[in-house]
Amino acid sequence: MKLAGKVALVTGSSQGIGQGIVLRLAQEGADVVINYRSHPEGAEETLAKVEAAGGKCYMAQCSQSHGYTVQADLGSVDEVQQLITESIQHFGKLDILVNNAGIEKHAPFWEVSEADYDAVMNVNLKGVFFATQTFVKHLLETKRTGKIINISSVHEELPFPNFTAYCASKGGMKMLTRNLAVELGSLGITINNVAPGAIETPINTKLLNNPEKLGALLQNIPLGRLGQPQDVASLVAFLASADANYITGSTFFVDGGLLWNYQEQ
Ligand code: NAD
Repeated sequence: MKLAGKVALVTGSSQGIGQGIVLRLAQEGADVVINYRSHPEGAEETLAKVEAAGGKCYMAQCSQSHGYTVQADLGSVDEVQQLITESIQHFGKLDILVNNAGIEKHAPFWEVSEADYDAVMNVNLKGVFFATQTFVKHLLETKRTGKIINISSVHEELPFPNFTAYCASKGGMKMLTRNLAVELGSLGITINNVAPGAIETPINTKLLNNPEKLGALLQNIPLGRLGQPQDVASLVAFLASADANYITGSTFFVDGGLLWNYQEQ
């Protein structure tokens, strides 16, 4: 119940890591905005799980988390701003922004099209930039503090051949976080990156269906397994809570040790 009374928006939360984060934040007592681009059924499933969790009481404090779904394409600045505005209108405020939505496109560097470059950068970096800006304006207007958590990747540090735009977007996210930690610190707004390694979600469908590649990857992971959305969500819940009030500008890896043991196959 670390987040009772808080309102959180998680972008791209109709499946995968985003869905796991929504469920964990709701378990901690937050009201949650579930954003989806094109799969309302995934968002509705997430919402049903939030509502089904029911009310909880802890040490004489009771709360029932509520969810709200909003369609928005994070690749469009207009839709990003509308998403934040609608979230605030629905719940009356926003305390926590989790920039989770992200995409990747596979191609050798010399074959990357401008359209694919723009698609990755618009969702993974430009959308994050303007979602964060709109959230910060709301906090300034209402004279409140808040927490921003970006779902980055081990690839904000680790090269990933054939995914250069993705790596550039996550590397950009790393410096966005460092810069804003300094610029927003005096306002009491914290910002941190959570950087997953290999998590079992739909983004990795091809890998999960390739036993040879999967086996080689698992050999690189000291803890010997893929991560689950809950592994990422528990860290996000901590960073969103008052327990993390003195933490800003950092990246936290959730990768079973992969980063320090990685060998290109
Ligand atoms: P996923 O493909 O299962 O989920 C991505 C989510 O983003 C989906 O809900 C999708 O609808 C949403 N999304 C994509 N484009 C969008 C858009 N234009 N507008 C709104 N929503 C959009 O992948 P995931 O593994 O859950 O990834 C979540 C985040 O975690 C991403 O930022 C990804 O880069 C990062 N990440 C994942 C892994 C992993 O191994 N799964 C590793 C490192 C980082």
